[in-house]
Amino acid sequence: MYISVDLGGTNTRVASSKDLKNIISVERVHTEQNVALEKKVILDAIGKLSAGEKIERTCIGIPGMVNKKNRKFNKIPNVPSLTGLSYEELFNSQIDPGVLMVENDAALAGLGEAVLGAGKNYDVVAYLTLGTGVGGVRISGKMLDAHQNYSEPGHMIIQAEGHLFKPCGQHGCLESYISGSAFRQIYGISPSECVDQNIWDEYAQKLALGIINVLAMWGPDVVILGGSISNKFEEYFKDPLMDKLSHHELFTIPPVVKSALGDDSGIYGGLVLMSQTL
Ligand SMILES: [Zn+2]
Repeated sequence: MYISVDLGGTNTRVASSKDLKNIISVERVHTEQNVALEKKVILDAIGKLSAGEKIERTCIGIPGMVNKKNRKFNKIPNVPSLTGLSYEELFNSQIDPGVLMVENDAALAGLGEAVLGAGKNYDVVAYLTLGTGVGGVRISGKMLDAHQNYSEPGHMIIQAEGHLFKPCGQHGCLESYISGSAFRQIYGISPSECVDQNIWDEYAQKLALGIINVLAMWGPDVVILGGSISNKFEEYFKDPLMDKLSHHELFTIPPVVKSALGDDSGIYGGLVLMSQTL
């Protein structure tokens, strides 16, 4: 049996699979900020799903930067208590470190979409997640780049002298304009409740800048939008976004689409990563 965990800033999902393609069952629990509690929650869920069966491998997606060489959680802004811990410190002996894989959550979600979701017919996939924060990854040939240390498109700067964004200390980051937290700060309403087309038009202008930079750096065949805000894509910001992009003359604009696997992109990505490294 294989276990894929998506440890999100708000919710944690733990899924089981036997063939690394299909999910047998998913446990959804609230993410605990206290490391000892979160560890217990994850291990309890794994125990329930495995029911004593041998676990061949476990993959965990983390909302922040992980250092795979040192096997440490480098910086996890949404679960700060994890920052600085090693994989082994989180799970001690309960999960054999030899069968534990850890990856950035957006990287896993992008891999899931590239192989099993909206990107399955494309070679080079740019995945952007528009949620509490903004993350993303470039997937080429259905694989993560094993030599890339991190991928943080949310921290690209789209406006010189722009807002100070406290979590990262930079001014004018994409995330400080288009994340869910930024949306609430700037417009005073949650993106899930916003029906004001003027706000969505402005949102689309900022997102378009981010996407043009993504095209410049990553040269994708498709851009996939995930995260909770992507649920508003078709109704509210697809048209103004594509209109803005259509006036861009340098790059060929690829299709921009919503994720196909939704909240489960990350746990599918974990299955894909485990299947690629058997
Ligand atoms: Zn930033």
